[in-house]
Amino acid sequence: MAQILDGKELAEAVRADVTDEVDAWTDRGHRPPCLRVVLIGSNPASEAYVRGKERDARQAGIDSKTLRFDDDITEADLLDVVDRLNEDAGVDGILVQLPLPDHIDDRSVIDAIDPAKDVDGFHPENLGRLLIGAPSFIPATPFGIVEMLRRSEIEIEGMRAVIVGRSNIVGKPLAALLMQRDANATVTVCHSRTRDLAAHTREADLVVAAVGHANFITADMVKQGAVVIDVGINRVDDASREKGYRLIGDVDFDAVRDKASWITPVPGGVGLMTRAMLLKNTMNAARHNAETAVA
Ligand code: NDP
Repeated sequence: MAQILDGKELAEAVRADVTDEVDAWTDRGHRPPCLRVVLIGSNPASEAYVRGKERDARQAGIDSKTLRFDDDITEADLLDVVDRLNEDAGVDGILVQLPLPDHIDDRSVIDAIDPAKDVDGFHPENLGRLLIGAPSFIPATPFGIVEMLRRSEIEIEGMRAVIVGRSNIVGKPLAALLMQRDANATVTVCHSRTRDLAAHTREADLVVAAVGHANFITADMVKQGAVVIDVGINRVDDASREKGYRLIGDVDFDAVRDKASWITPVPGGVGLMTRAMLLKNTMNAARHNAETAVA
């Protein structure tokens, strides 16, 4: 039976570390790190994510505020908002909550964020720097996954890692991170056109599922003793819940748990780490911006 990689406990440890870093930073006379979140419209999932991010940030001593705009904002006006935040020396980190309304091109908005303030790590400059192993903001979900493994003393070096999903925010940056010289995994990235997916996942010491299909990874797809990380967040109807649904992952947790050595639950796994790593990126942004302001 697998041990649980407890996102709640691990994220709490990350948050405590960041809070200490923020305290030490302000004790040295700096202003608190400043995060500005831009939220367009009233998508309930985005609202919930943003509320969580703001609460976490405030508890860590980060000055966090959400700037809200109606979903009929034009792309030009949103780009102006981003420009103003880029220019504001009092702002360290900018996060534009995705998804954006259909009439706005996500890529144009992400590309407009100053890479030095891009705490989501989605700007091409940060993704490029990640790929070549240069210091960069690392997208919070892959960053959180690696942090979970490290804090649990799971040795990544030499592992055969199979990532299912090749998105720009999870699969691709995670592949880059796991193959860095300080991680040294051997990485395979699978996607919807992969032939005989299960043949790949069955070989893996580390399986990461970032697909977006409930219970997609079944026990027969996992090797005995593998470490299994479930990124997926899927809503399934559940009349017994007040909200009428519950969240489940991409991994058939109950069955896979019997075979894996470690497994992340959903909820209570990667999602909480994702939130915690945003705080770490914001602290790093404050440090970086203070250094470049002096230089
Ligand atoms: P995307 O939809 O961008 O990517 C999904 C990936 O899964 C694609 O690469 C797609 O392949 C692949 N895929 C789809 N169907 C199959 C299949 N049948 N076989 C193999 N691969 C398949 O999703 P994201 O990466 O943004 O998110 C993935 C999941 O993780 C979602 O549930 C999302 O909600 C969740 N998520 C959770 C986070 C957290 O903090 N826990 C953060 C971010 C996301 P192809 O490229 O060929 O289409």
